[in-house]
Amino acid sequence: MDLIVKIGGSIQKDEKDYELIVEKIRKYSQKNSKLIVVTSAIKNVTNDLINVTINIDNSPDIASEIYERHVKLLSKLADGKEFENAFKDLSRLSDELFRVTWSIRVLDEVTPRVKDYILSFGERMATVLLSAVLRSNGIEAEGILTSPLITDDNYGEANVIEELSKKEIDNIIKNSKVNVIVLPGFIGRTKQGKYTTLGRGGSDYTATLIGKLVRAREVRLVTEVPGIMTGDPKKFSNAKTIPRLSLEEAIELSQLGAKRLHPRTFDPVFNIDMKVIVESLYEDGFTVINGECEKSDGLKGISYLDNMKLITVESTKIVGKIGSAAKITSEAKEAGVNIVSISQPASETTIQLAVDSTSVNRLLERLEGLKGTLIKNIDVNDISIVGIIGCEIRKKEISTKVISIAAKYDPLAIARGISNVSLTFIVNKEEGENLSKELHEVIVNG
Ligand code: ASP
Ligand code: MG
Repeated sequence: MDLIVKIGGSIQKDEKDYELIVEKIRKYSQKNSKLIVVTSAIKNVTNDLINVTINIDNSPDIASEIYERHVKLLSKLADGKEFENAFKDLSRLSDELFRVTWSIRVLDEVTPRVKDYILSFGERMATVLLSAVLRSNGIEAEGILTSPLITDDNYGEANVIEELSKKEIDNIIKNSKVNVIVLPGFIGRTKQGKYTTLGRGGSDYTATLIGKLVRAREVRLVTEVPGIMTGDPKKFSNAKTIPRLSLEEAIELSQLGAKRLHPRTFDPVFNIDMKVIVESLYEDGFTVINGECEKSDGLKGISYLDNMKLITVESTKIVGKIGSAAKITSEAKEAGVNIVSISQPASETTIQLAVDSTSVNRLLERLEGLKGTLIKNIDVNDISIVGIIGCEIRKKEISTKVISIAAKYDPLAIARGISNVSLTFIVNKEEGENLSKELHEVIVNG
């Protein structure tokens, strides 16, 4: 197996998109004897399915709207037998989804297992649609509706069991008589056959993992943007595509940068010789990701989070007391709040937690409950988090230059990233824009 191609959901919205997708896959299938295509759910469908689980009373309506969207695209893009067969498959899936929506209405409850089951319809329907469209355009393709990924039962964020999954996928390849195999991303199943999901955006991870399991030479992640960029083009007008990233750099940038990738996307790529390429459906330009830092790797990109809060927890009782940080962070876990950054001075008089503004209140409510026992005072400030990423940060003269720029903005905290390939600064909210622009200039213009 040479190549895995992942087709994102945001680029599956209309006829025009599918015409471009068909041509891309045609091109790649001519160059490779067998091709695996991993698909996400089509645009917005995963969000709509999440809505099915929240808006239980409206769930049959939302489900029928999802079905109609697929059928409409199918009717424009496939004909004859291909249309008929795929129409039957979509209708069967839609019936199944309807039955689930009715049962959650009766039970008035959605368990994590049922939620994953509901989410699985997005990728399964997309697989039916995309494989039919390919066949209708003369490409010999087969859609496999059950995920080859066998996982544990950690619903919502399942862990893949690689040995079992490898067997499944090897079997699929062995039994397939066509040269393009379309597989659903994002979803897996337990040994008992229950649907699981790998976490939001999990199709990228599906593609790299399958790439590892079949020893692919290359994984192409096809999206709307021409690769990973030096900064979010909406915030930095002169942002450019980064031609190459080492794995460490890619992990840092994909977590914080313009193009959000699933946090585990690059896990499978470590210690194997496989390239990941992020490319656009619409325009030229791509980013190649592989290997470790090389001598020629400079500064690569900026991440800029501008809607953050810094919670400062102050207590004399924290000093020298084992387990107090764990107590405070476990409150965040209980509240379901992601801690983006955490710091504590050696005097141990405070603990600072940076969290997204949208989730700050959930955590504050819980921390208030510890006032008087563990916590004396809680302070909340608006902050920005600005990160600069690149292997060159490891060079002292470069990190000194970056830190001296940041110093002008009076950072509240500084942190270093994985393998020392990034520096992150927490600054007061108003300073974020200028600091990020100044650092972005250093990347683009030296
Ligand atoms: N459809 C899933 C999501 O929207 C997975 C993916 O797109 O990668 O999160
Ligand atoms: Mg997606």
